[in-house]
Amino acid sequence: MLQTIVVVGASLAGLRAAETLRAEGFDGRLVLVGAEQHLPYDRPPLSKQLLAGACSVDQIALRNDGYDDLSLELELGRRATALDVNGRRVELDGGQWLSFDGLVVATGAVPRALPGTPPLEGIHLLRTLDDSLAIKAELDTLVARGGRAVVVGAGFIGSEVAATARGLGASVTVLEALATPLSKALGEDLGAACAELHHDHDVDLRTGVGVSGFLGRDHVEGVLLADGSVVEAELVVVGVGVRPATDWLESSELELRDGVVCDPTCLAAPGIVAAGDVARWPNPLFDTEMRLEHWTNAAEQGMAAARTLLAEAAGVPAEPFAPVPYFWSDQYKTKIQFVGHAQQGDEVRVVDGSIEDRKFVALYGRAGRLVAALGFSRPKLVLQARRLIADRLPWEDALAAFE
Ligand code: FAD
Repeated sequence: MLQTIVVVGASLAGLRAAETLRAEGFDGRLVLVGAEQHLPYDRPPLSKQLLAGACSVDQIALRNDGYDDLSLELELGRRATALDVNGRRVELDGGQWLSFDGLVVATGAVPRALPGTPPLEGIHLLRTLDDSLAIKAELDTLVARGGRAVVVGAGFIGSEVAATARGLGASVTVLEALATPLSKALGEDLGAACAELHHDHDVDLRTGVGVSGFLGRDHVEGVLLADGSVVEAELVVVGVGVRPATDWLESSELELRDGVVCDPTCLAAPGIVAAGDVARWPNPLFDTEMRLEHWTNAAEQGMAAARTLLAEAAGVPAEPFAPVPYFWSDQYKTKIQFVGHAQQGDEVRVVDGSIEDRKFVALYGRAGRLVAALGFSRPKLVLQARRLIADRLPWEDALAAFE
């Protein structure tokens, strides 16, 4: 029987798990442990509205009406440091052990730093509210002085930071190691379409370049490239991807492989589930293992993992978690949305609008089936595609549906 459930990670996946546990009738002790001091907040605005000064910190809270109804024990500013699977307990910093009957692992991901980055002021990673506020303060000063911001990495978060900085009036250079940004996620042609958004807005996008170091005494003054040239910079934001936050689980018996390995129902071990950016599980809809770094997945998987925990305790079969992945990215005035699961070698067809107009929908097909769709400022059609992917629609029928 479940008397105490501990949720580690006080952000989107952990909060949705806690809310679901209560909504589904769990009335035992519920502890939410989070390394940050802040109450759970939304991360997407950190590179968009909050960075642009278009919303306040209060407006990005994940709950507006407080936490009383959840009857939580909130342990904020506390880090879990170890997990004893057989002993059913979690160690918190300071050496305190917390016993549980059920555990939700929702520790998300941490941004990767470039190896050998010197401790210069003005070089930032972006994952937390504090990161975003620090970047914003420097960006405002830079804009007032007419300085240049450099973004390393033209993935989605780097590209959003570039777009926001440009929108505020900064000169921006983006340095990308790949010949075409996002080509691994979206394919060559559609990765190139994302690159064009930067060109449209006079951002100096340099592809196929390596960063070999940073210049400056106390504060960063430039970025040294592999070819020996230097890009002047007053502010550098590094967005070269994340790794799952599993350090605290290294000594546990859980299987770790670029994330916490789970079964199709998000169960990592008896009484232990994982959700959000930290979780790796086989998605039955695509017959493939996934670890997603998307807002919608963190929310949906947090709910699914909580239900699994309750089903297991009740001795009833848990539902497999089989979503169609979805994420969005807002850059300049374009809403980029992606649904499904694309791979290199997929057939790609633009079925509505045109890349030149920066308004289109492209479908991805594999093995005779619709598997993914990308839209630029086409929200309704992308959501339609999400439903068709969930229905495992044959490729030819999908093309016909968008004629
Ligand atoms: P996280 O949000 O990473 O939360 C994990 C929490 O666990 C953190 O608060 C962390 O401090 C805490 N933690 C870690 N280790 C421990 C420990 N040992 N003990 C206690 N607590 C711990 N997705 C989209 O789909 N669209 C977007 O436009 C988009 N924009 C984004 C912009 C930015 C700047 C960022 C950073 C992310 C963006 N995302 C976006 C991704 C989305 O925000 C994440 O997928 C989502 O936050 C994942 O939620 P999570 O709860 O799994 O993990």
